[in-house]
Amino acid sequence: MKLPEEFLKRMQERLGKDFPAFLRSYENPPCKGLRVNTLKIGAEEFLKNAPFPVGGKILFPEGEEIGGFYVGEDKAGGYAEHFAGLYYMQEPSAMCVGGLTAQCKKERVLDLCAAPGGKTTLLAAQMQGTGVLISNEIDGGRARILSQNVERTGIKNCAVTNASPAQLAERFPEYFDLVLADAPCSGEGMFKKEPEAIPHWSENNVALCAARQREILDRAAAAVAGGGHLVYSTCTFAEEEDEWQVRDFLSRHPEFELKEEHKLYPHRFRGEGHYCALLKKRDGGRRSAKPYPVKRSAKANRAFADFAKDFFVTMPQGEIAALDDGRLYLVPAGMPAIEVRTLRLGVELGEFDGKIFKPAHALAMSLKGGECKRFISLSREEAERYLHGETLPCEISNGWCAVGLGDYPLGLAKAVNGTLKNHLPKGLRKLKQTGR
Ligand code: SAM
Repeated sequence: MKLPEEFLKRMQERLGKDFPAFLRSYENPPCKGLRVNTLKIGAEEFLKNAPFPVGGKILFPEGEEIGGFYVGEDKAGGYAEHFAGLYYMQEPSAMCVGGLTAQCKKERVLDLCAAPGGKTTLLAAQMQGTGVLISNEIDGGRARILSQNVERTGIKNCAVTNASPAQLAERFPEYFDLVLADAPCSGEGMFKKEPEAIPHWSENNVALCAARQREILDRAAAAVAGGGHLVYSTCTFAEEEDEWQVRDFLSRHPEFELKEEHKLYPHRFRGEGHYCALLKKRDGGRRSAKPYPVKRSAKANRAFADFAKDFFVTMPQGEIAALDDGRLYLVPAGMPAIEVRTLRLGVELGEFDGKIFKPAHALAMSLKGGECKRFISLSREEAERYLHGETLPCEISNGWCAVGLGDYPLGLAKAVNGTLKNHLPKGLRKLKQTGR
């Protein structure tokens, strides 16, 4: 791997006698990790039946556990357990942010730069369905991927938005107990994972990233409530983007204090490298926001209730919002009016066209096996066939069902005279191996 000369020079100046060890770390293959999704399964249960070998626990400098494990598997995204949202692949040092967010109140949380969703899924697991999480991504295409990951991992108390930090700061001044700004950066810790990023590295790009982070941090600060926290992180080593960025921030924002910071270098921590800082806002108010304006439709609610009485063991609790396009959502308790572009809100229950209610894939993914009366538990071989879009034989009465690997939902199917018609969205199906 040919690393930029200027980058190496900077690292040598920074690390001194540690530099050779840092350089040697590039001889190892990239470090991979997974986090068990404790919204769906406990870590012990997952490890008992993990579909590939799982290594040791990922521990942080102070020895905290974050539900992460080292793995060597290259194709971890291809297993039925991944489709069922039982784990999320995340670079081990990126999980360090969890050691900071674990210490914070999380009634109202904003993940400002959230795609593809590594830290959103971590925050959601820490929140365990309580409080409200707004998970935002400025780039529309990446926001869609984020939204799919929120769906797959069965997060129910989240809104996925596609807005700029400025729009959110304006919409939610002094509102959040915790804002995470996992900022876009020069990605020096990603060189092994994404070697195509290496030629884009330059001192000029470091400076551009630092200027963008400064703006993001100022916006993030405005959205933090008094007494709340701001967690800032990058996957780069440049001080301009890390320690100096935070010092500069503190000089502009005396209402914040630095509580903790960590720099994870690949020669000292088994991971690719990360920086994270925990900042507390000493002064300021905690403002409220208008509640989410739930639009109700009695007709749609009746259609859903008709479907639900045969489908659920106990009816899902909460307010059902009917959007103008016919989609129904279960709105998380405490959700504020959002008023920026929103891709997903709470749990999408399904669609009502005025006559028929059709359940949504997200509804299946939000379930636990025991919550659904019409749940079909598939073997691994059947689950693979389902994920490829095939139909399967069944013995259940006609109608909608959720199907899953063991107890863990993979999606919806409709039983029609002994055949399970496959309703896994086409874009989420596994591609057939063509042998080419
Ligand atoms: N937190 C994510 C995770 O754990 O999966 C990774 C986030 S990545 C490091 C930074 C994100 O910031 C990218 O998705 C990028 O599109 C977004 N971004 C780029 N420019 C931005 C800006 N000016 N304001 C806010 N976000 C921006």
